[in-house]
Amino acid sequence: MPTGFSIRDHSIFCESSSIDALADNFGTPLYIYSQNAIVEAFTAWSEAFQDAEHLVCYAVKANSNIAILKLLASMGSGFDIVSGGELQRVLHAGGLAEKIVFSGVGKAASEIEQALTAGIRCFNVESTSELLLIERLADRLGKVAPISVRINPDVDAKTHPYISTGLKENKFGVNAETARELYRIAHASPCLRPVGIDCHIGSQLTDITPFIDSVKHLKDVVLELQSAGIELRHIDIGGGLGIRYSDEQIPSTGELITAVREHLDDLSLELMIEPGRSIVGNAGALITRVQVIKTGETKNFAVVDAAMNDLLRPALYSAWQDIVEVDAGKDDAALYDVVGPVCETGDFLGKDRELSIDEGDLLAILGAGAYGFAMSSNYNTRPRAAEVLIDKNEAHVIRSRERVEDLWINEVVPSHIGGPVNED
Ligand SMILES: *Cc1c(COP(=O)(O)O)cnc(C)c1O
Repeated sequence: MPTGFSIRDHSIFCESSSIDALADNFGTPLYIYSQNAIVEAFTAWSEAFQDAEHLVCYAVKANSNIAILKLLASMGSGFDIVSGGELQRVLHAGGLAEKIVFSGVGKAASEIEQALTAGIRCFNVESTSELLLIERLADRLGKVAPISVRINPDVDAKTHPYISTGLKENKFGVNAETARELYRIAHASPCLRPVGIDCHIGSQLTDITPFIDSVKHLKDVVLELQSAGIELRHIDIGGGLGIRYSDEQIPSTGELITAVREHLDDLSLELMIEPGRSIVGNAGALITRVQVIKTGETKNFAVVDAAMNDLLRPALYSAWQDIVEVDAGKDDAALYDVVGPVCETGDFLGKDRELSIDEGDLLAILGAGAYGFAMSSNYNTRPRAAEVLIDKNEAHVIRSRERVEDLWINEVVPSHIGGPVNED
């Protein structure tokens, strides 16, 4: 079981709260998060740097619940954002603008203005057009925009193609040659200030080698810039360290940062990192109840009350997440495909799982804290699940379950279509 989860008397607990009782109290599907697991994962990152000047910028898109952002902000976390919406969230949660870096290949002018006005730490620039747009907007607002150039180091992160971002055929970042040109422009502009260099080569990395390969690329660029008289303040190696979903062997934060420092310490730059999944991924579980057990000709299906709209990773990139019985005391195991009620064959949460279950039983889908709720939708007019943060034996609702009426709040029926809709 991941940190924060345990089996006691044949039943699963999150910290000292019984998952059975949580499901009774808050209903299903239900996202639960162990506060302690998040605190431990963040601490593991900050301690990995030891005496090196550093900033951990949590990647907000992994799980953007305001309570979680506030928890991380209270521990001194910075934030990696990819939209103006995330900027607003972080500021609303009490995150500091001077600890925010703004990534993303398609920043809108309005988002850039918002970030300039807030006074963020740095724009992680991904193209020439973006740099010139930031320059124009900074000029108009009378600001100097701090920038970093996102290098695409063309290294294979050996992860799923949809979450690989550091190959030259990916849309992210620029090559070293373009980067040199962007730094030259920024250095010469009164409205731009080059402060850093960054990369992010993919997600769910299980090996240190691609990190080191990309770090070497960044270092080469830093040294060239130095000889051209351009001094940076920080080097940001992105996020991407994986978590254990099944039997992956994941390097520890300490091993990774120690290996990185061997290459970077002589530059005397502040080290930055943008972890998302590795902070919240294993802290969360999605709790779901078995609605129907369906015995087919070639397969058994456990149809549960969570679906691809609640947890998209299995449908989107065939991700494997462990699914365990909340009542671990049964012994009539059979093989099931665990599927949701949504009208898509891609709506599965796990295939060929050995489970001892009856209709009405609870299942816990582990490793659901990152890219779980954050990627959820209302497909099939399914209200999104509630989220609960567990602190020992206390359960705090950090997002209440949506009501169906919430889902059409922005929908309008034009009068020419006919009479009023029912007001219920
Ligand atoms: C998504 C993303 C991250 C976080 O990735 P994880 O795999 O969740 O650690 C970091 N930086 C950037 C630019 C990203 O897009």
